[in-house]
Amino acid sequence: MSKVISLRDVQDMVSHGQDVTHLPADAIITPSANDYLYELQMNGSAKAAAATPAAASGEKFSPPAKLLNSKSPKSELEAFFNSPYVHNLKEQICDMGHRLWQRAYVDGNGGNMSIRIGEDIVLCTPTLVSKGSLTPADMCLVDFEGNQLCGTKKRTSEVLMHLQMMKHQPQAKAVCHCHPPYATAFAAIGIAPPTCMLPEYEVFCAVAVAPYRTPGSAEMGEVVSKLTDQYNTILMANHGVVTWSHNSIEEAYWRMEILEAYCRTIVVAGQLGKPINTFTGPQMHDLLKTKKNLGFVDPRYGMKECELCDSGEWRPGAVGQTPQPAAPTASFDPEAEAAVKAITDQILARMK
Ligand SMILES: [Zn+2]
Repeated sequence: MSKVISLRDVQDMVSHGQDVTHLPADAIITPSANDYLYELQMNGSAKAAAATPAAASGEKFSPPAKLLNSKSPKSELEAFFNSPYVHNLKEQICDMGHRLWQRAYVDGNGGNMSIRIGEDIVLCTPTLVSKGSLTPADMCLVDFEGNQLCGTKKRTSEVLMHLQMMKHQPQAKAVCHCHPPYATAFAAIGIAPPTCMLPEYEVFCAVAVAPYRTPGSAEMGEVVSKLTDQYNTILMANHGVVTWSHNSIEEAYWRMEILEAYCRTIVVAGQLGKPINTFTGPQMHDLLKTKKNLGFVDPRYGMKECELCDSGEWRPGAVGQTPQPAAPTASFDPEAEAAVKAITDQILARMK
């Protein structure tokens, strides 16, 4: 049987300095492993990349020794904005944009992403461009107030929310916003999905609902940013979802996939006619231990085991009921009843 070579296998080989240019001819190489090999080829030889351990973590280009900020000279900012390091981050944003569009998590020109790349400077997507057709040349650089520093296209108006999140939550390195339909359905009813059903969701996401505010307004940024202390996945009522990551834009994107798959699964499970099994307190406690080790925020750290799965304004399988108007019924009137009986008796007596 042919050997399957995954992205992880190739990254392991690279990090151990092995030659990845001569893989077995009959090996099945997964699409992501293939993309990675192609990237290695594009960025010089695969052997040269193997010499750089950082290549394994996807950080093919190291960040600048000195972090720039919004007050740095314009020429330095421009050079940085056009450097291989930032170009690589622009490509990552484009890649996530294409995935968002292919999965129908964005519609029209909806959705936006950003990555903090200096003290108070942020790379972000432009306005009025579909995430399905993003290119690195579309990207913008803004300061923490939203003033555009570099890039030819105009930055998205919703970056103001991203910036407020980053200002409030120093850990937030990357932010992703989109409108995945199942998760947005929960946002439309203003309720966070019930918890304690699937492990990935518990480990990667900590979900809250923010009240509706006009998209792009300072008020929107304010209500969302306050939630970033304990939540990394925020449903914005009647709008969509925003996630953040302290690692990468890809991780912020993963939260979207995990949240959307979870919402879809529990909606389907709710139709199967059986109650859904949930985690026990100790099972949930274990998952939260893993989550903490990964450095993800969650409001449930430190809670008692018996409190961990006590969630749910809405349970899958719950049936919404429309109140039926009461059928018009004549109320019982003993006097009228007696009168009817008397008349009936008289009629019957005459018929005898
Ligand atoms: Zn939106």
